[in-house]
Amino acid sequence: MAMQYFDSHAHYNDAAFDADREEILARLPDAGVVGVVNVGCSAASSEDAVRLTQRWPYFYAAVGIHPEDAAQAAEGDLDRIASLTSNEKVVAIGEIGLDYHFEACPRETQLRIFEAQLALANRLGLPVIIHDREAHGDTMELLRRYRPRGVMHCFSGSPEMAAQLVRLGLYIGFTGVVTFKNARKATETAAALPFDRILIETDCPYMAPEPFRGRRCDSTMLPRTLERIALLRGIEPEAAAEQFIANTAFCFGIKTPLPGASGSN
Ligand SMILES: [Zn+2]
Repeated sequence: MAMQYFDSHAHYNDAAFDADREEILARLPDAGVVGVVNVGCSAASSEDAVRLTQRWPYFYAAVGIHPEDAAQAAEGDLDRIASLTSNEKVVAIGEIGLDYHFEACPRETQLRIFEAQLALANRLGLPVIIHDREAHGDTMELLRRYRPRGVMHCFSGSPEMAAQLVRLGLYIGFTGVVTFKNARKATETAAALPFDRILIETDCPYMAPEPFRGRRCDSTMLPRTLERIALLRGIEPEAAAEQFIANTAFCFGIKTPLPGASGSN
């Protein structure tokens, strides 16, 4: 059987896919993609993410307000996010977190919206998808306080930092960054972590792996990331592929076997 992949983090609502979204998504199953968690960044893009799950049976949605979108969030947006979670294809609250790199949104606002969504996830019993950019101290403090299930996405930190997150019960998501020649810390971490805590993701349209670095990314490029991690760990790609699908399904509470082309709802 050909290898199969589950993209645990994608942004197919991004404008980068406006010209050819249908063609790209329609050909994912032929490339071995059996599942995609499509991640919202705002109330509007979360609603779009849920809409795509109705069109594509192998799509799941995460709904949430990204720290970079927190400044534009209106008063009712958290309620819009909460009401989307009644859809059974919504498997997580995300992408949520803190980003102190651009400071496009004041830290107090980011912290307030992140905390509200951690509380929401716990109340609903849903996992979270966490974004932490140059905000590790505050992120860890809130994770220790709320103890959510879920994944730290696009991880490029040290093995020690990853071990702290794993002790909190979280998964660690790796993008195409692990294929970059200068990604020493991310590769060290991907080699060292317990295998059952690792997810692979594209974060497309961003983070295309080598040899596609700099191009628009999509889920058909995920095998490059998988092969790199398998090589780092000295295992067969086929075995890694199976484990990553199981990890992703377990993290997000998705029942296997996956629905495939026939659809479950
Ligand atoms: Zn993302």
